[in-house]
Amino acid sequence: MGETHRDQAAVHAEVLILGGGPGGYTAAFRAADLGKQVTLVERYPVLGGVCLNVGCIPSKALLHVAQLIHEAQAFERHGVSLGKPVLDLDKIRAWKQSITKSLTQGLAGLVKQRKIDRIEGVGRFTSANSIEVQTESGAQTVTFDQAIIAAGSQPVRIPVFPNDDPRLLDSTDALELETIPQKLLIVGGGIIGLEMATVYHALGSEISVVEMMEQIIPGCDKDLVTPLHRRIKKQYDNIWLQTRVQSIEPVEEGLKVFFEGKNAPESELFDQVLVAVGRRPNGTLIDADKAGIVVDETGFIPVDKQQRTNVPHIFAVGDIVGNPMLAHKATHEGKVAAEVVAGMKVGFDALTIPSVAYTDPEVSWMGLTENEAKQQGIDYERAVFPWAASGRSLSLGRNEGLTKILCDKETGRLLGAGMVGPNAGELIAEAVLALEMGADAEDIGLSIHPHPTLSETFAFAAEMISGTITDLYVRKKGQ
Ligand code: NAD
Repeated sequence: MGETHRDQAAVHAEVLILGGGPGGYTAAFRAADLGKQVTLVERYPVLGGVCLNVGCIPSKALLHVAQLIHEAQAFERHGVSLGKPVLDLDKIRAWKQSITKSLTQGLAGLVKQRKIDRIEGVGRFTSANSIEVQTESGAQTVTFDQAIIAAGSQPVRIPVFPNDDPRLLDSTDALELETIPQKLLIVGGGIIGLEMATVYHALGSEISVVEMMEQIIPGCDKDLVTPLHRRIKKQYDNIWLQTRVQSIEPVEEGLKVFFEGKNAPESELFDQVLVAVGRRPNGTLIDADKAGIVVDETGFIPVDKQQRTNVPHIFAVGDIVGNPMLAHKATHEGKVAAEVVAGMKVGFDALTIPSVAYTDPEVSWMGLTENEAKQQGIDYERAVFPWAASGRSLSLGRNEGLTKILCDKETGRLLGAGMVGPNAGELIAEAVLALEMGADAEDIGLSIHPHPTLSETFAFAAEMISGTITDLYVRKKGQ
């Protein structure tokens, strides 16, 4: 990558960006486009952070492999037999690498085009206007007028687990696809855990999931998670809810896992264990105190709507400022921070940040969840359109999907939406746009959706609220 070799004399940046993930590179690009001289510090030789190198993108490549395998198997009963899949792990890995490579090369090109100065190394604050970067050739001091911190997060480790045992994986290890374990335990039934379960199940592992809460993906409404739960319950060996791992004992044949909780067995042996119990922010790793930046006890850096920390010329974006830890939140925050740095009067005021689990079926939601609407005492109307009545869904060989919308009872305005089914992750974007535009159920129902598509299910759910649905028979109240 085009990192410049420099002597170790201090260099100066108008805008210093710490971290080259989606939040950091977006902030760097936007600040450069607004005429700022930008220096981007990133510890790895490639940009893109967790998302591009060991997160969103490689996982989606592997999830596509999983989808192909599942669809090929599913269509045997509909007259298409492709035979047992023959997996060449080296080729799958190489394909996954080629995708991240092409994207990281693209980013390197964008850095050059924008004449951004890039320093490779680990950066830590030394004062409110300087940072020291440990590069391969020694320490490099960078002074700055303004800074944007985008130093991300890392997987939570459970200290009592045998973390040095190579059979205990985090999401980065799991994406390496070193081997396909026969028996894999996934600790944490959240998004990472269930996405990796989807991949490894398709590649042949017997999967068990252990989740401490009452449902998988606890942040999502239960009715949207149920179709996913029903499907994977048939595919996986075990889904233990309200259960925790008490301890893990490494033995020669594998990892012996001891459980505690409602439905737990006492102990079981697994070839590998993937720990996916959340991520923690990297706020404590950058000597923020030397710049006077407040970091809370969990490692987050509090910011205002302009992404400003308590130090007025230092900003922060992405996972390090709070949940949800999602790349699309980070990129939007990165733009806001860069624009504020360049003197624009803007703030982060998105109405919602959508969530997607790229499982099979996918689950997506945005705006208010029904749980939140209930907790907040909001008077809402709810409609759920079953994909069993969608011709497009049936033509994909799937009938378990749902599209749910919540609208304000008085005004009909959209408050929230959620979907479960193939491509739910793509479909949720329309709901986000509708929410941001202040659409009501009638607006959505009257917008002509192409037929036959899954997108129609969003309009049908809206028609259920406005009482104009013809694709289902909904008995009128009082009839
Ligand atoms: P998560 O918070 O989504 O899920 C962690 C799960 O582990 C939760 O369900 C939690 O209840 C459970 N858990 C916690 N401690 C446990 C324990 N000791 N035993 C059993 N269960 C336990 O976190 P994640 O899946 O690790 O993902 C980390 C972050 O990365 C999240 O912010 C997530 O949104 C983000 N991410 C997003 C995507 C996506 O957008 N598709 C993909 C991957 C990761």
